[in-house]
Amino acid sequence: MGTFASLETWSSPELKGRLEWYYSVANNLKPAKYLVCRHIPVGQDIRQLSEDELWGIHEKKAEEFSRVFKEIRDGGLKLKEISMERPNFLDLKVALVKKMLTHCNFCRWNCRVDRSAAKKFGTCQLAEVSRVSSYFHHRGEELPIRGTKGSGTIFFTSCNMRCVFCQNADISHDKDNGIVFTPHMLAWTMWQLRMEGCHNINLVGGEPTIHLHTIVEAISLLRFFKNVEEAALEAKADLYIPYPLDVRNASFEGEFNTPILWNSNMYMSPETMKILHELVDIWLPDFKFGNNRCAVALSRTPWYFETVAENHKLIYSWNEDIVIRHLIMPGHVECCTKPVLKWIADNMPLTPVNVMDQYHPDCYCNPSDPRFDKRYVDMSRYPTREEILESYRFAKMLGLRFEEITFEKSLRGIRL
Ligand code: SF4
Repeated sequence: MGTFASLETWSSPELKGRLEWYYSVANNLKPAKYLVCRHIPVGQDIRQLSEDELWGIHEKKAEEFSRVFKEIRDGGLKLKEISMERPNFLDLKVALVKKMLTHCNFCRWNCRVDRSAAKKFGTCQLAEVSRVSSYFHHRGEELPIRGTKGSGTIFFTSCNMRCVFCQNADISHDKDNGIVFTPHMLAWTMWQLRMEGCHNINLVGGEPTIHLHTIVEAISLLRFFKNVEEAALEAKADLYIPYPLDVRNASFEGEFNTPILWNSNMYMSPETMKILHELVDIWLPDFKFGNNRCAVALSRTPWYFETVAENHKLIYSWNEDIVIRHLIMPGHVECCTKPVLKWIADNMPLTPVNVMDQYHPDCYCNPSDPRFDKRYVDMSRYPTREEILESYRFAKMLGLRFEEITFEKSLRGIRL
């Protein structure tokens, strides 16, 4: 088996250029962003500060991060040339997400419930505790993501959307699925996957946004661990495969290093976007619906288009590494696929896009599932070949960068 760096996919200079930061961190040529955050000192005790005061410091530290990050990215500065102090930018983010949890505004629902008190619940139905359904080396993601040894994917339970066709409904519609994961267990799991050779840590669900506090704290705890976390192993779906642990998979200048991948519906609040900006090395968003009518009808999600579009636009303006996914849904080429692809072409030209053809009727749309609801009978079929080809033709006509991600190897057999 070849190495990650020798994958055919990197022979496309455009694709490699678009994913250069991720590629460098995955190959331990650069430090992940969270390591850079550790080298941005806050310079004062933050324990007694109000949330507004913390956000004020966050704004200044984000500017400092941006300067340091650019120098590191361009090769003019080495991480070891900057000292490490506590509290640092990462500690500040942990403090902020803990405050946010007490009036939860992690996502656009902005439920304002105190999840630490667990007396009232928001749309995601979660209190403070996070649960992980499973984690493993995912071999089914896009080639630059799954590479040769898999994407270190961690599936969190529950979701802030209610897609009637959800292909992970056992996880996303059942908040009690899986086992309770503390931030420490989560950090250990990330370490294990990366030490086993995974090219990234892929945070997904359900939806990772609703577990922001656990994830950010886990990232702050990342290091080389010595002891096995037996409780976390219960959720490892590929435990039967003996992957050797190798420190060379995960080391940058002696520090534990891994790209953080955010695999999300992008229905986040502006505050969450600020927290994630300096932590995520590569974004893998789903852009599903081309209008709010379909989002409400099929996902019970209001304010969908403006929220998700705005978050995509932010990522583009930040010049981040990103691959956008769009799933072709039956009967939704004109109202969803075309508007989404057109929006991407107009607002994020040259961004790699995966135009996905693997929709299958699931959950409330699956006639052989006891949960089948006849209101969704239009969604109870596969997209036709013509719907799929029309989507590809439209993407091509718009000049989108989708072919090397969508088809991976060649267009053989596909006539557009
Ligand atoms: S994560 Fe979103 S859905 Fe859940 S309580 Fe917070 S704002 Fe509401």
